Amino acid sequence: MDQIRIEKLQVYAHHGVFPEEAKLGQRFTVSAVLCTDIRRPGLSDDLANTIDYGAVCREIVSFMTENRFQLIEACCEQLAERLLLTWPDVLNQVDLEIQKPWAPIGLPLETAAVRISRGWHDAYLALGSNMGDRQAFLQGAVDHFREDPRTRVQSVSTFIETASYGYTDQAPFLNGVMRVRTTLSPDELLDRCHEEEQAADRVRKIHWGPRTLDLDILFYDDEIIGTERLVVPHPDMAARDFVLKPMAEIAPWKVHPVTGKTMARMLRDLEEAGNAAE
Ligand code: AMP
Repeated sequence: MDQIRIEKLQVYAHHGVFPEEAKLGQRFTVSAVLCTDIRRPGLSDDLANTIDYGAVCREIVSFMTENRFQLIEACCEQLAERLLLTWPDVLNQVDLEIQKPWAPIGLPLETAAVRISRGWHDAYLALGSNMGDRQAFLQGAVDHFREDPRTRVQSVSTFIETASYGYTDQAPFLNGVMRVRTTLSPDELLDRCHEEEQAADRVRKIHWGPRTLDLDILFYDDEIIGTERLVVPHPDMAARDFVLKPMAEIAPWKVHPVTGKTMARMLRDLEEAGNAAE
């Protein structure tokens, strides 16, 4: 990926654990690698098509002087998030280093530094509801993700009606998928999904069976995750036409990182196996 580099921008600010650091302030040095596509500005020679590194430097200075952190880790983390959210369409990733050359540790060091790499990720979420105003629950979740600057909704499938899966004596589901660009980590995205489910759940009357809203993470970039609370890609996808149909609608070319098959191909395989709902 192409890069724009900012090296050793000097900022006088007041971060640190010790009271003297907050009172007197000290010098920090910030370096940033901005990962962005240079092709367009490269051919057009137009500032409007790129990330103005002057504006990025001003943003770094104002962020660091208007906020106070105990830790440069916190300063670095939140500054990276600020930059990603300020240039969401062009800044794909930022590698950020904050140095603290005057770190008051009573020993002669050249600098102490924190370096992180943060970026936008490409995730697909499955949505389902089989209780109450199903359309409103699914649309509400999409709208809330749209309103959150950390989850930029890229596309949403048609919502389709399907017979319930698993406990078959339930009402039919309305299902769909959406693609989001997100700064959230996989675990944070799962928490965000649970928050949304709980918000919808406030109107739930029985505590088992029918769901006002179910959100699953189908893909997170091409990552393969297997922890106690999160399995990605979602393991039941290959058997669920109510996931594969909407996926094949919005991203037929998307390749499953484990099976190596596209969504279109996985849907065809499921239909040919005769498992797809009529
Ligand atoms: P369910 O109520 O059937 O949607 O299951 C929810 C639980 O499954 C959550 O508490 C998660 O910890 C876990 N889980 C594992 N992998 C995933 C995933 N890819 N997306 C959503 N939930 C998951």
